[in-house]
Parts: sequence; C-alpha cells; structure tokens
Amino acid sequence: MAIVDEDLERLKASLVLSDVVQQYVALRRVGRNWVGLCPFHAERTGSFNVRDETGRYKCFGCDASGDVFKFVMDVEHVDFVTAAENLAVRAGIELRHTTGDAGDRQRARRRQLVAAMAGAVDWYHDRLLNSPDAREARDYLRKRGLAGETARTFKLGWAPDDWDALCTALGVAADLLRDTGLGFTNKAGRMQDAFRARVMFPIFTENNDAVAFGGRILPGSTDPAKYKNSSETAIYAKSKTLYGLNWAKNDIVTADQVVVCEGYTDVIGFHRAGVKRAVATCGTALTEDHVRLLKRYATQVVLAFDADAAGQGAAQRFYEWEERYQVRVSVARFPQGKDPGDLSVSDPDALADAVHHALPFLGFRLNRVLNARQLRSPEDRAQVAGEAMAVINEHPNLEVRKLYAAQAATHTGLPPGDLVALAERRAKAPVVRVAPPRRVGSAENAEFVAIAMLLQRWDDIAPWLVEDLFATDVARRAFVAISQAGPDIDKALELADPEARELIERASVIDVDAEPVIEARNLIAAAVRRRLAQGVSTDDAERLRAAREARLALEDIETPDRADASAEALLGWLEGAGRAGEGDA
Ligand SMILES: [Zn+2]
Repeated sequence: MAIVDEDLERLKASLVLSDVVQQYVALRRVGRNWVGLCPFHAERTGSFNVRDETGRYKCFGCDASGDVFKFVMDVEHVDFVTAAENLAVRAGIELRHTTGDAGDRQRARRRQLVAAMAGAVDWYHDRLLNSPDAREARDYLRKRGLAGETARTFKLGWAPDDWDALCTALGVAADLLRDTGLGFTNKAGRMQDAFRARVMFPIFTENNDAVAFGGRILPGSTDPAKYKNSSETAIYAKSKTLYGLNWAKNDIVTADQVVVCEGYTDVIGFHRAGVKRAVATCGTALTEDHVRLLKRYATQVVLAFDADAAGQGAAQRFYEWEERYQVRVSVARFPQGKDPGDLSVSDPDALADAVHHALPFLGFRLNRVLNARQLRSPEDRAQVAGEAMAVINEHPNLEVRKLYAAQAATHTGLPPGDLVALAERRAKAPVVRVAPPRRVGSAENAEFVAIAMLLQRWDDIAPWLVEDLFATDVARRAFVAISQAGPDIDKALELADPEARELIERASVIDVDAEPVIEARNLIAAAVRRRLAQGVSTDDAERLRAAREARLALEDIETPDRADASAEALLGWLEGAGRAGEGDA
C-alpha cells in the first residue's frame, strides 16, 4: 500500500460514488440507484447501476463492477495510486504516502522525464527566437502567421541542422534523452538528436507537462517526412493525448464545445482566429480514449477535418461514442481545398463561421451523398436515394433515421413513405445487444433479495438469517462470506469465491423494495417446508413432536402479532431438532 491507510479511509468516506461516476456518465435516478449507459461496453439502454449506500457499481451488460477506486482506475486507465490521487485532488484531501514503493519510483521517474522535456522545449524555443541558423524557420513561420506572439504562446521551436546540439546542450543523462525520445544512441555509440532541421511544436498534457514534440520540415527540405512525431514513451501515449488541450481547456468548458483538428497549425489557426477551443490528435485518428478525455470538458465535439474520408467504420464509432459518452459529434465545413491553418491567415472569420454552422455528423454525410451527382434521370434518383439510405441506416436512432429519410425523399423525389419504411427496417443495421439481467427462479430470487438486504440494511435483517435458509449453493456461499465479514462489503468480496463474489456484486447495487423482516420470514418458511418435506424418523417421539410444533409455528408466521415468535421458533427448530432429524432420516 503506497498511500497511508487512514488517508484512504478518509478519502473514501468523503466521496459519493454517483458524483464521481457522473463526471463520465450521465446518470438518472431509478429508485435508490443511479442508472446510465455503461462506460465499459457499448450499449443503448442503461445497464450500469450505481448505488451510493453501498458505494458500489455493477453493469448488468458486461459485468463490470467495483468501488469508486476501481471505477476511476478502469475509466481513466490508471493504477490504484493515481486513481486515489485524482480523487483526492477533487475531494480536497491531502494523501500521505508510505515510501519506497514502485508507484513512487514511477512518479519520480515521470517528473525527471517531464523536466528533461521542459528543458528541451525552452532550448528549442530560444533557438528559434534568437539563433542565426533559425532565420529561415522564422521567415517560414512569419509567412504562415505563426511568428512573434504566436510563436511565444505555443512555445514553437527550432531543432538545428546538427547531429547532437540538443543532447549536448541539455546536460541530462543519456537514459533521460533516450526515454523521452529526444535522443538515441547512434551506430558510433553516441547520443544523437532525434529531431534535426525541423520547426518544433511541443505537445503538452492538459496539465501543461511537456511530453512530446511534433517536428515539421521547412519547404524545400529533401526529408520525405513532412512531420515527425515523438515516439510513444512512458509519459506520452498518442491515443490519449490531444495537442492544444492545455491552452484550450478553459474555453472548451465555457463553450461546452471542443473543435478537433488534424494538425498543429490548424489548432494555432483557430486560436489566432479567436476560436480558442481547438485541439488536434497527434498523428492518429480520434480514439475512444480521446473522446473520454474530452467528455470531461464538453459535450459538443466539432470535427474540423474531413471526417467522411475516414469512412464507414468511423461513422459507426462516432454514433457509438455519442451514445456512450453523451456527446454530440458534428462536422465543420470549409471551402474546398482550404484547411483551418490557411484560413486563419486568409479569412479568419471563416473559421468561426464553419464551427457555428457545423452539421450533425449524419447530416454532413447525407449532404455529401445527395450532392454528389446531378439528378437527371429516374435512375439517378433511385441510385442516390439508395446511397442516402445506406448512410442513414447506419444511425442507431429510429427517429433520427426517419427524419433524414424524409429529407432524402424530398431531395430525390421518391415517396417519403417508401424511404421512411426503409429507415424503419434498417436493413443493414448493426445491432448491439445488451445481455438482459438473468432470469431467476423464485427461490433463487428470494435468496438473492435477502442477500441484497443484508448488504444494504444489515441491522434490519442480519438477526433473522442463518446459513440453512439458503438452498441455492452460491447464495449460501455468498451469505457465509458476508456474515463472516460483517457489514463490510469489501471484506465480504475478499472472502467470497468468484461465483459468490459475482452474486454479491449484483446484490450490492440491486434496487430492492422489500421489507427485510418479511423477506427473512419467507426464507425461514421456505426452509422449514423443505426440511419437513424430507420427513422425520417416526420412532423418535421427541423429534416428531418438534416437527409437529414446527408445522404449527409455520401457520403463525404470517399472522402479524405472532410472526416474530413463530420465526424465532422455526429458526431454533431448523438449527436444532430439525437438523438432527435430518441426520437420522
Ligand atoms: Zn457494461
């Protein structure tokens, strides 16, 4: 354990699970639970249950389950200590660490790597602003509107046309140069700069830690790679990093909107044009991790690149993300052949306009199809209508499909009813199935309810439950684990075998609307009936008498003023005479 236990307990006590989950998933109240779309699998109806009383969540679609730490670990892809630290920051609690563990060493290493990167950012930047050999780079940037204040804001730099200028100047150990990707060991066994003769765009995390570079050649260079990016390192994962987020995040939150571009200069162009909420992926397509990261800041995602070029697979991904993360993806349109970087110089207002008039992703794709050809003949019309419906039918929402189908009908002149019917059938629709909660038999169900009550209302039901009440093997094992742990779910989970643990996970989030005592009495009655059905040895008068009394008590268990006494007597019989009788039978 890397964090002092006492602090962890304090942290846990200060957190409300649903508050934490709601930063990632939209939840609605259902009974005493919160329910939403599971962040861990694709689904269209909410299977993800959160219960604040037990501090646990459970997805009935993919079986993900756990507590607040597990949730943050899985949703952020971080280790336990990082998850705890993130939560502590939000809760305003300072965590003390025990020393010497792997997590501490990792964090110390990370600090060293980030410090080396920061040194490189400054060195390249200074080189660009002041060095005679950077004149050509300065001229190039000036022409593109990236000089002066812009260069300073975005910490642009110049990597000189030299073998080892940075490695020599930086004065850090070779392993740091290597592990940051700033340098590498060449064939002669010497450290060599990774970037050479390139304009440097430093890439920061949302918290302003420099983690990577994108380097661009100057026009006229013979280097075939226009852009070169840092390779992935311990501090840099492309799929989780967005260029510009550190500068953009405030505006993103304010506008509840983020503009996603393809290149570094596009991001800077948007900023220059006053749209200070642009970010870019770093040489990859937009990933689910990116969306998860952005979802923390805004619900509207405007794509400022040709998203359609990414093809059909991309469309389905976007629709899925829209549902899963409750974001809206739209597409900004630019004049043919212009990218945001160019426009920021020639026509800055066009950038804000394009974002303002962004079309929903499906609307954008449909426009493309409808305007792809002229409608000169019935054959043209039928063809375009078919292509349009193929695009429309990728969308998971029926109402949305019907509305766009009507639009396609208007454009092509086909009867709206025909196209809407196609939208309803959605011939080639991909279906995401959510496994329904398992059906359970009534005995199994009653035992499950009792376990749920035990987890949620321990004091009310615990005195009435004994192991013998559970006929289903897994419920019995779950009960044993819970009763050994007392009202401590984490401990019960530790003690339980995997199958019983699964049952406890489900029971800890299930919404049970039942009276604990009545549930307990029902279980007792069922157990007594089972025992009586097994028969009692007829040559033992004492046991026969006890069994007869049990039958009588059973009749009383639903009579309000005698129910408690009856239940107590029956519990006694189950544990004493009844059990002994079973042994003899
Ligand atoms: Zn799930």
